Amino acid sequence: METSISKPHAVLISSPGLGHLIPVLELGKRLATLHNFEVTIFVVASQTSAAESEMIQAAMSPKLCQLIEVPPPDISHLVGPDTAVVTILAIMMRESKSALRAAISTLKSRPTAMIFDLFGTESFEIADELEIQKYYFIASHAWFLALAAYTPILDKLVQGQYVDQTEPFDIPGCKSVRPEEVVDPMLDRTNQQYFEYVRMGTEIPLCDGILINIWEDLQPKALAALRDDKLLGGIVKAPIYTVGPIVRSLGPTGSNKELFDWLDKQPSDSVLYVSLGSGGTLSYEQTIELAWGLELSQQRFIWVVRPPTAKGDGSFFTVGSVGDDELSSFLPEGFVNQINEVGKLVLKWAPQVNILNHPSVGGFLSHSGWNSIMESISNGVPMIAWPLYAEQRMNATLLTEELGVAVTPKILPSKRVVGREEIMMMVRRIMVDKEGHAIRDRAKELKHGAEKAWSYEGGSTYNSLSLLANKCKHP
Ligand code: UDP
Repeated sequence: METSISKPHAVLISSPGLGHLIPVLELGKRLATLHNFEVTIFVVASQTSAAESEMIQAAMSPKLCQLIEVPPPDISHLVGPDTAVVTILAIMMRESKSALRAAISTLKSRPTAMIFDLFGTESFEIADELEIQKYYFIASHAWFLALAAYTPILDKLVQGQYVDQTEPFDIPGCKSVRPEEVVDPMLDRTNQQYFEYVRMGTEIPLCDGILINIWEDLQPKALAALRDDKLLGGIVKAPIYTVGPIVRSLGPTGSNKELFDWLDKQPSDSVLYVSLGSGGTLSYEQTIELAWGLELSQQRFIWVVRPPTAKGDGSFFTVGSVGDDELSSFLPEGFVNQINEVGKLVLKWAPQVNILNHPSVGGFLSHSGWNSIMESISNGVPMIAWPLYAEQRMNATLLTEELGVAVTPKILPSKRVVGREEIMMMVRRIMVDKEGHAIRDRAKELKHGAEKAWSYEGGSTYNSLSLLANKCKHP
């Protein structure tokens, strides 16, 4: 491996899945463009979907980073049909370690820093062996990091299942976490995904710095706790760099010309965008209620439709395919014809960033994945938080109770079907009702905060990334 004296070289490693790949690609692009880094991104692939390939292509033109795909390891002997997503991802990363090690050691120019994302903690050892600084990139928020780092302690303090507790869990210096809000891997302490999650919690503090996809003013309290030695800083220790919001820039709109022509004709802030992330799905019954709720709201909408699944949560790797004719098999009879010029259905996947950026879009019903939230806030769009999986229940609470930019169903959608009347009221609340005024204003306020964070002069994110870039330069 040669050491290039001119450019610092950051190696980024992305866990499988679009929700992980997107922010890693964007972070890489920013290091390359703003700080003149050579950037190599390793993508531990799942089955690369069409959307994933498109995303990689779009992110790579112009070619700012070198992208290397690590072929998916054969884990068929290690997982079964009921293996949880977190376990699958942890195993995939573990089984990819030697391929990753080999590929990194043969890079032409020696990396000056390695940046691992959520499931990459077990590969910190590769950086140690090569004596390269190692950073951890959380494409989520500070409260999520706080819980992840504190779970090894909760593991000792709490008896029985977290979900059966009656009191919230105190996290030093942070908002406490209610039993029903815990992240998916904490739902069942006997499941392997819980052990993987606790292991990750113990490994996170071993890095040289943590990059987090927020900006300083977004969560000052949680950030202060993470930096205070007497609170969570006593556990986390590594410096925290706020590098957000990291969101994709506008991309090609592909085959959606008609959709954007329609959007161009709608009044500003009048269209609700409905989408459940890269793999979220609803049950059959919930799909019907959502359809009627949208109709009852009398608001314009764009709905990224996926075929229902029995349970309705996150299919993650398998976004099902659906044809126009199939829509009528799971949408209410006549719905497709009835919505006419008021609503547009997009099958499976839509150019989300472009849609949220369009002036006609004034609300977002979202599964509350962190990328979607950052994209919505960056465009000043208020939300209906509809959490499905992962850390999304915490995200929904953060959006509604702390940031004030969303409404959420009274009872979690995972606990019961949200009825059409409640959906109608939530839609009207964020789009038109007087009571939603403060939420809409707050979304615009946060948008300005996000823009300020990225500004070259005194922006907290820009400064934070510059500080990090300096540290990652050649010793
Ligand atoms: N996305 C998109 N079109 C879709 C659905 C999702 O472009 O139809 C993108 C979205 O813009 C976001 C990512 O996929 O960048 C989803 O990430 P998020 O963290 O919101 O959720 P996840 O899919 O990881 O649950």
